[in-house]
Amino acid sequence: MKLKTVTIFSSVLIGILFSTLTISYLNTSKVLDLQARELSNTEKQISAAKGLKVALLQHNRSVFLFSLNKKNIRLQKLNLYHDHIISFLDDLDILVAANKESKKFQEQIRNKILTYIEKREQFGNTSLSAIEQYNSASKHIDELDLHIDSFVKHNDGRMKSLIAKIDEEKNRADGLALFLLTSGLVTILIILFGIFTMIYKPLLNLSKIINEYKNGNVNVRANNSGLNEIKVVANNFNLMAENLKRQKEDQLSFIASIAHDLRNPLNAISIAIHLLMQDTDVKNIEILKIIHKQTNDLNRLVGDLLDTTRIEAGQLELEFSDTDIVTLLQNAVELFRNSSEIHNFVLKLPKSPVICHCDEVRLSQVINNLITNSIKYSPAGGCITVSMVKEEDRILFSVTDQGMGIEPNELENIFNPFQRTKATKSTIPGIGLGLSASKKIIEGHKGKIEVQSILNQGSTFQVTLPV
Ligand code: ADP
Repeated sequence: MKLKTVTIFSSVLIGILFSTLTISYLNTSKVLDLQARELSNTEKQISAAKGLKVALLQHNRSVFLFSLNKKNIRLQKLNLYHDHIISFLDDLDILVAANKESKKFQEQIRNKILTYIEKREQFGNTSLSAIEQYNSASKHIDELDLHIDSFVKHNDGRMKSLIAKIDEEKNRADGLALFLLTSGLVTILIILFGIFTMIYKPLLNLSKIINEYKNGNVNVRANNSGLNEIKVVANNFNLMAENLKRQKEDQLSFIASIAHDLRNPLNAISIAIHLLMQDTDVKNIEILKIIHKQTNDLNRLVGDLLDTTRIEAGQLELEFSDTDIVTLLQNAVELFRNSSEIHNFVLKLPKSPVICHCDEVRLSQVINNLITNSIKYSPAGGCITVSMVKEEDRILFSVTDQGMGIEPNELENIFNPFQRTKATKSTIPGIGLGLSASKKIIEGHKGKIEVQSILNQGSTFQVTLPV
């Protein structure tokens, strides 16, 4: 699946969820708002109707009292109750406007009330006594009450059905909210699961593989999992690793064949020089010594090349035996002591032998390489210190010079094949294989080789070996 598809799919899913949520929220709040208004309107109608009932009774009583003893104060009350009735009727007019059925009730009530008022307020123009008029008006009011009661009953019914509807709407909204919450959680879980399995995990694996590769395990390959884009990166990484592997193999086999072809003529030259040195005059001996030294250097170089090709091809074979490291270091220093007049060799070694189970020849190769380098890369001369200490379960030996040193950012690289520092590349001959071979040999002994260096002040190469 492509990242684009996943993004679109998740966005659409989240979009649908949010739109549904918003629409249903708006819808529910609108419905509830309408129903609440209607409920309050119905309530007002009921209370207006009840108010009307009371006002009618008060009005009838006031007319009766007024007709008994016409006093100003009674007239005021009579007018007040009359106004109450009219005001309640007007209120009802407004309240029932939106409801046809209530409107019908209201019209009947209004007509009857108006008839009542018209009749009742003509109390002076009739031959009936005040009490008879009161009784007749009371009958009229009783009839009116029946109408008002049915109006109230009708509205009571409406109120109940509205409350039921509001409850229903609330339950519906609760159900919908629960559904949306559950589906929201499920969607988020699906998206998180997708991100975890299709993006996070494959990326983590890829980064682990790249790290492993960077740390030297050139045989690791990335898994073909996750989104298409990650698969493409993983495939490209695998292709790149395969290409580099093939290139390196080609390089190594090329170097191996050249080194192999060089070895035989070099051996022949060495033997010839050796024979010549036994039978010549002093002047030629000096020239032969130079040729001898150069041939030895060349031989060592070819040896390094062959070693590297073998080591890189995983063919390093070590022959372990109990060896005295003190003697090994002493011999190495003696070998080089006379090779330079500007260097002063200092030995800091234990007095008694220190035995280590190791490959003597390979370890000598490492020590020789470190001493050769310390001479080569301190062209101004100085002190070269070879020291060794034995701890409980390990042996540490080091070679320190006062030479040109190494820049901090180059320290990590010098143990890789063909890597040389910028400062030495153009000034001092070398091909950058000694340290990489030394590292592999020491690692073959389950030990480690480290360097500490200060530019223009010198370097210390330290080897740690388990006893
Ligand atoms: P080579 O000496 O043939 O170039 P090495 O693998 O022995 O190969 O060393 C790799 C590089 O590390 C050297 O080219 C040099 O740049 C740097 N180096 C090694 N030893 C020293 C040292 N003692 N002082 C400064 N630089 C060193």
